[in-house]
Amino acid sequence: MSAAGAGEPHLSVVVPVYNEAENVEALVARVIPVMEGLGQPFELLFVDDGSRDATFAILRRLAAADSRIRALRFRRNYGQEAAVEALYLHARGQWLIQMDGDLQTPPEEIPKLLAKRDEGYDVVYGVRAHRDDPLPRVLASRAMQAGMRMMDVELPEDVSTFRLMHAPIARLVAALPERRKFFSALLVWSGARIGTVKVAHSARHAGHTKYNFTKLLNHTFDLVVGFSSKPLRYIGAAGVLFALFGFGLGAWTIARKVLFGYGILGWASLFAAVVVLSGAQLVALSVIGEYIARIYIRERLNCDGDELRLPDARESEPSGQRPRARNA
Ligand code: UDP
Ligand code: MG
Repeated sequence: MSAAGAGEPHLSVVVPVYNEAENVEALVARVIPVMEGLGQPFELLFVDDGSRDATFAILRRLAAADSRIRALRFRRNYGQEAAVEALYLHARGQWLIQMDGDLQTPPEEIPKLLAKRDEGYDVVYGVRAHRDDPLPRVLASRAMQAGMRMMDVELPEDVSTFRLMHAPIARLVAALPERRKFFSALLVWSGARIGTVKVAHSARHAGHTKYNFTKLLNHTFDLVVGFSSKPLRYIGAAGVLFALFGFGLGAWTIARKVLFGYGILGWASLFAAVVVLSGAQLVALSVIGEYIARIYIRERLNCDGDELRLPDARESEPSGQRPRARNA
């Protein structure tokens, strides 16, 4: 790690990398000229998420040669969001520009994010105008997005991880107490003013996606559990349906006996009792779950603390353009 150059950087380009040895050099070679073109002090911060290839050795070499480049590393692979959390907490700039380490979002698009910010946004998401990923990867994402809509999770449509954020907001969401964070959604939750801008998307520069289906499924699960108690409602509803079915079956068994003089069906009455009880248990579970969810959600809202209380800070400002370096 090397110190940032003269003074604090205004912009931090933050990049999580995992086994991207073939890409980091090309990335640096393209990011640096774009950032220099902007004419403001910047840093380029990497968090190596426990790569097992030469990624970190290359980063260290690049950082030694250019004081604007910094590299931190995890000893093992914790996953992209953990790396992103570390990036948000360690970046020194007032504005953070996040991008992937595989050059899927061209660094040349950075000025577009900044232009949108100047219209008065705290966070600007890059939206893929056209997505250049292998079909299974796209399908997995689509399924994930559909699932999120079912669970009422708020997220702008088709956002990528290419985005710009005001540093206090990035730090706020990174410092939240939950262990598994889903930053695209947390930024929305924070109440930040969010703009979107269409950006180009290309195929990976080299290597292949670090996301397989299981990883994406886990990610979706984190998102749904972190932002919605809807699954609990679905469980409760299933419980009610079970119980109703059980009652119907019980009623039918008794009616057969009373109206038609058949004997009580042993299996049917037992089955009815089991179904009614299972249904009741599901309902009870969903109610308990709902209590727990409420404790959890309240805890999140309370963490909106101190100088980083976004909504209050914003109310005192006139609409439109607002002073920038505040809170930094
Ligand atoms: N990444 C990471 N840790 C992981 C998986 C991925 O830091 O466990 C990084 C990866 O190096 C890349 C970014 O996160 O810079 C996005 O990953 P990838 O390109 O594999 O995802 P996709 O483009 O398929 O969404
Ligand atoms: Mg990628």
